[in-house]
Amino acid sequence: PPGGRPRYLEGLNPEQREAVEAVDGPVLVLAGAGTGKTRVLTTRLAHILATGRARPFELLAVTFTNKAAREMKSRVGQLIGEAVEGVPWLGTFHSVAAQILRRHAELVDLKSSFTILDTDDQLRLIKQILAAEGIDEKRWTPRHFGSLLDGWKNKGLTPARIPEEDRWAFADGKARDLYELYQERLRVLNACDFGDLLLHNLTIFQNNRDVLADYHRRFKYLLVDEYQDTNVAQYLWLRLLAQGSKNICCVGDDDQSIYGWRGAEVDNILRFENDFPGAKVVRLERNYRSTEHILGAASGLITANKSRLGKTLWTEDTGGEKVQVRGLWDGEAEARFVADEIESHVRGGGSYADIAILVRAAWQMRAFEDRFIMLGLPYKVIGGPRFFERAEVRDAHAYLRLIRSPEDDLAFERIVNTPKRGIGDTSVQKLAQAARSARVSMSEAARLMVQTDEIRGKARTGLQHFLRDLDRWRERAEDMRHDELAEIVLDESGYTAMWREDKSPQAAGRLDNLKELVRAMGEYDTLEAYLEHVALVSDLDRAEDGEEASLMTLHAAKGLEFPLVFLPGWEETVFPSQRSLDEGGTASLEEERRLAYVGITRARERAIISFTANRMIFGRWQSVIPSRFIDEMPADHVEAKSETGYYDAGPGFEGVSEPADAFRSTYESPGWKRYQAAQAAGKRRDPGVIEGQAQLIESGGMNGPGGKYRPGDRVFHQKFGYGTVKQCDGAKLTVAFDKAGTKKVVESFVGDAP
Ligand code: ATP
Ligand code: MG
Repeated sequence: PPGGRPRYLEGLNPEQREAVEAVDGPVLVLAGAGTGKTRVLTTRLAHILATGRARPFELLAVTFTNKAAREMKSRVGQLIGEAVEGVPWLGTFHSVAAQILRRHAELVDLKSSFTILDTDDQLRLIKQILAAEGIDEKRWTPRHFGSLLDGWKNKGLTPARIPEEDRWAFADGKARDLYELYQERLRVLNACDFGDLLLHNLTIFQNNRDVLADYHRRFKYLLVDEYQDTNVAQYLWLRLLAQGSKNICCVGDDDQSIYGWRGAEVDNILRFENDFPGAKVVRLERNYRSTEHILGAASGLITANKSRLGKTLWTEDTGGEKVQVRGLWDGEAEARFVADEIESHVRGGGSYADIAILVRAAWQMRAFEDRFIMLGLPYKVIGGPRFFERAEVRDAHAYLRLIRSPEDDLAFERIVNTPKRGIGDTSVQKLAQAARSARVSMSEAARLMVQTDEIRGKARTGLQHFLRDLDRWRERAEDMRHDELAEIVLDESGYTAMWREDKSPQAAGRLDNLKELVRAMGEYDTLEAYLEHVALVSDLDRAEDGEEASLMTLHAAKGLEFPLVFLPGWEETVFPSQRSLDEGGTASLEEERRLAYVGITRARERAIISFTANRMIFGRWQSVIPSRFIDEMPADHVEAKSETGYYDAGPGFEGVSEPADAFRSTYESPGWKRYQAAQAAGKRRDPGVIEGQAQLIESGGMNGPGGKYRPGDRVFHQKFGYGTVKQCDGAKLTVAFDKAGTKKVVESFVGDAP
């Protein structure tokens, strides 16, 4: 309205409005759970559009899940009161990077029709490579190599750039060669894995300044949600893209950083102010989501973490129920308890959709699912074994992929003998071998070999039929709807018949899934669009709205909120997980605690935590003790009851003396104070390897900075503290640390000692 404040700004508090209206220049919103960060980001997007500062295609917005992206799109539409045609560059890091890569695929030797491999395909490919290289799979597992690959890619490292010592991380010094081979195979297959999406983007921007400049002109405003969980590759990508306009707004919460295990770096928050000098930092302190008790319990818990920036949080929502803690006998009793509570919530007028059950690990879900199914309690699993990962769905996709691109060997291998065509493992091995030595695809090799005597008898006839079928389907694909084609392919290949004849109890469900698949395909205009969607729906996604309780992992619950949240399995070794305990250090334990913080802060009105005394873990009964996180919540905000007698005395709450108004206190950790002191002294203490990496990419050169120090210089290292340089070897330093002793460190990891 002329003169007046636009409607969408009403209802924001002053700090939120400040963050929305400060559209020019870099902005970092650093704030606790439920303070309206996502709301600020959405409103900001609406504001930019409504004030005509940019058109929808000039915005780049990244969120954590496709669901969050969809929600943001629809909320922006509502805010500015007109249908937003679509913000084409709004999505997850992966989906936006995939879009960019398709436009410039040739710059990294791919065709724009490249396939995106999932984890399963990736493993299959690694297996092939290890076999071809004669590497013992038992000793050096494909899975291990897969996780190394992910780690490098998350750090933005191409084979040439992995650190020398990483070569020795696999197969006696062959890690880099294998990484190279793997990338080479992907190129031949015209495929890339998830990590490549961003990595290829970085390579393209680095090697083609004109392309980058083009994106600089295009993207006038950049917006990033859940910034604390970006990994190095994502960070570098953002930084490159934001160099154009410098109008970047990131929102995040260091206390909710829960993807460290996937390479996320909470330090990206600290780097922001260094990379974007003059960045406006906005802090939001009022929580609009939860009651005083929920916030108090969560805020108290998280103070046990040492490495945090510290923040203030408060709510006007006083009163309400304390966080409930329940001890149960075993997992079955726990499932019964949760189901009973859900039913009584609904009897009291609530809805199933109000409810979320958040577990630490997927295996915990089964007990709840069993119980819910028995009671007919409506529920959905978010991020569980998802539809697109089911074997029959993947088989069907393999047929379609192979029809679309004959060079897709992984698809070829998957279905060449499914259903059975008499083409046994030996024949498949022969094909793979021939394909490798002739450097052609397996389809190509097959075409050749059916004309020779390499393959005989049943295998030969089977292969001939298969190839003929493929040719026919490819022809029909030209002038047929892709969902119709899918139906025909599944029929003519004998695939549907295979399941119809199958007598196992799952067969009927599989046939239903195939029908559902054809239906789902119909929702997309082209086969390409459909396959792209399949490749990108992340395992965190699958939510459909309805009157159902939601069952999901804590990781999948990020950014969401529910009136009633159940947090089962709060036991040592379950949560915190055995793995985090085994690792011993504080880092992984602190990450578990942040996960607990995320869990509690999903609740708006009620949070119910439970633990059991006995747990069947991997087929064995074990008696377990309540999670330390239960003890770490301030007693004032918690009400504990136990049906096992184990917890009746309330031992957990003795000696817990958090401030009564924990939810209103300011926590400032030593880490944060050190950081502030370093900032004040004009020191940049956090750059580390990322900086080197960024400079490498930005300078387009292979040599990072080096040789800044001389023997005798005093330096400071984040982990080892103060020390004196003893020896310099390129980018490597030998430093005698005052407390930690003599260590070899990377130069870019140290700073001048103040
Ligand atoms: P998280 O850290 O969990 O992602 P967040 O900071 O992104 O949380 P939002 O999800 O944006 O928080 O907001 C939390 C809740 O508070 C939402 O229901 C939102 O609509 C509401 N909210 C945010 N700001 C306001 C406000 N100024 N007035 C009323 N409600 C608000
Ligand atoms: Mg949010």
